[in-house]
Amino acid sequence: MLAYQHAYHAGNFADVHKHLTLHAVTRHLLRKASPVTYIDSHAGRGLYPLGAAETRKLQEYRDGVAPLWQRRERLQGSSPLLDDWLAALSEAQQGEGELSHYPGSPWWLARTLRAQDRLQLFELHPGEHAELERQPLPGNARRSFGDGLSGLRQCVPVSTPRLCVLIDPSYERKQEYLEVADALLEIARKVRHALVMVWYPLLPAARHQALLDALRASGLRKLWRSELVRHAPGDSRHGMYGSGMLLLNPPWGLDAALGEALELVVPLFGDQAQQRGEWWVEE
Ligand code: SAM
Repeated sequence: MLAYQHAYHAGNFADVHKHLTLHAVTRHLLRKASPVTYIDSHAGRGLYPLGAAETRKLQEYRDGVAPLWQRRERLQGSSPLLDDWLAALSEAQQGEGELSHYPGSPWWLARTLRAQDRLQLFELHPGEHAELERQPLPGNARRSFGDGLSGLRQCVPVSTPRLCVLIDPSYERKQEYLEVADALLEIARKVRHALVMVWYPLLPAARHQALLDALRASGLRKLWRSELVRHAPGDSRHGMYGSGMLLLNPPWGLDAALGEALELVVPLFGDQAQQRGEWWVEE
């Protein structure tokens, strides 16, 4: 039984962190002509109208993407990544200058697709998948209704020289942390150069630690993480106090570009907000 629906959380600080990281990665991949297969194992709806009843209920975007959008002109010129991300975000808006929509990972990935690239999306929630089916996506994007981690395993190895994976589960079950670790290890075994991104929540129960520890114990190399902490774990008014992105085989220069962008973003997320990027397991 899947209860989670991302529309309740669309555009929150964790989405900004996740999609800025995703954008930094795709910008890097686009520097070379060689084809890329993108796989998004937990795709969601693809595009979230901020006026939808679910999103209006919690309005998490008001402490996430909204302050960034409001200051977009003042922020311009300090980080090429952030400038580019905000310019892309404006493409998803329907009113002049108004923040009307927040785009999800399928949207961010689809807009980078070139003729030589492929995109495979998985979504298991029937309602979310039906919404995803309604999104206009290019012909080289494929949507499948099914379990994301099994689908991902079946897709690899891929026919393109490069592979980029986003694993962004809802972690409704505790076991998902270790299931993600197993899936990542299998991808890394089958495609040594795969670039894999895993999003994880920072919660007072620190369940993400099982995922990080399992990967360190596996002997896998080149794991880098970026964490954005909103407030101290003890101050868990909202449960999730931070957002993490773990990257296998991060592109060269990602830490500098993302760090520069996030340093501009975190002050908008409150006095206690901080960000850091570091190797979890080095080369
Ligand atoms: N990646 C999306 C984005 O960045 O816009 C958000 C994804 S949301 C955090 C997680 C999604 O995974 C939900 O839409 C949920 O329905 C879906 N989901 C849950 N379990 C799944 C599974 N086993 N396989 C595929 N999708 C699943």
